[in-house]
Amino acid sequence: MRRLFLFSITLLVFGCAPEQKKQESNKPVKPFIVTKPYFSPFNADSAYNFVEAQVAFGPRVPNTKPHQETAKYLEQTLKRLGADVLVQKAQVTAYNDEKLNIFNIIGRVFPEKENRVLLFAHWDSRHIADRDKNEENKDQPILGANDGASGVGVILEVIRALQADSTKPNIGVDVIFFDAEDYGQPNDVQMGQKADTWCLGSQYWANNPPIKNFKPKYGILLDMVGAADAFFPQEGVSLYYARGIVNKVWSIAARLGYMSYFSGQINEGGITDDHVYVNRIAKIPSIDIIHYDVNTQDFGDFHHTQKDDMSIISKSTLKVVGEVVLATIHSEP
Ligand SMILES: [Zn+2]
Repeated sequence: MRRLFLFSITLLVFGCAPEQKKQESNKPVKPFIVTKPYFSPFNADSAYNFVEAQVAFGPRVPNTKPHQETAKYLEQTLKRLGADVLVQKAQVTAYNDEKLNIFNIIGRVFPEKENRVLLFAHWDSRHIADRDKNEENKDQPILGANDGASGVGVILEVIRALQADSTKPNIGVDVIFFDAEDYGQPNDVQMGQKADTWCLGSQYWANNPPIKNFKPKYGILLDMVGAADAFFPQEGVSLYYARGIVNKVWSIAARLGYMSYFSGQINEGGITDDHVYVNRIAKIPSIDIIHYDVNTQDFGDFHHTQKDDMSIISKSTLKVVGEVVLATIHSEP
């Protein structure tokens, strides 16, 4: 993913966003959200293991063996966790005209429930380390422990916790692990910036819906949710399309005591990530929980570098995010 303000059609949409947006967001969050009692907690060790298992395959870059192996692992793991699984296979064209064979991995938990929520993350890792300070690293793929594997790991653990609990939520859960989110055009290419080169898997899915009448009430995207001392500001695209969901999730985080992670800071510029296309094309109001430092205007020094390995993954952060997502699901009437 990348910061949005460099180029994007969504920027035009934002140009029209009403000014009152800013004022509204300073209002205190709603204090009371009732959460159904539940008994199976989010297990940080288990989440960490789910992250580690993906990273162990190596960089998950389309058209490589680790990529195919990880797709199988994710399909099998979702099935083992009791989900109905569908794998959407496709070929998409990258910014450099390469044809990428991709797999969007879709799971449905509690399929009998009519009201549903969507949890999604990208599972591929970037094919280059174009932000690495070491020149020799720049053309090498990254492990994407945080950028890719962390969001998937938290979602898998949320599903495990839900299934282990005798008290089921009132709402069904859909899962999508999108491919080829991170194969976007690097900044230093002299060919001029093409539009929509990121998030190829979610764009394909939104334009070619594999499930008819797929209408979860809302979606939550998890991206880079594993770094120590992470910051999750309220993100501009999420606020534009799904302000109510942002308020709900951040107030749950506050109630759980996680305001140091889920501060009320706002990243107004927004971020190009899979939720842009889930909102814009699939029309499912969706938010992005994504690590971003508003003060430095950056994702962190691991971002798109060889530093993004298991050494930066914090069980505490995985747990914070997982508990917030779990409580949000259980808060649904
Ligand atoms: Zn990325």
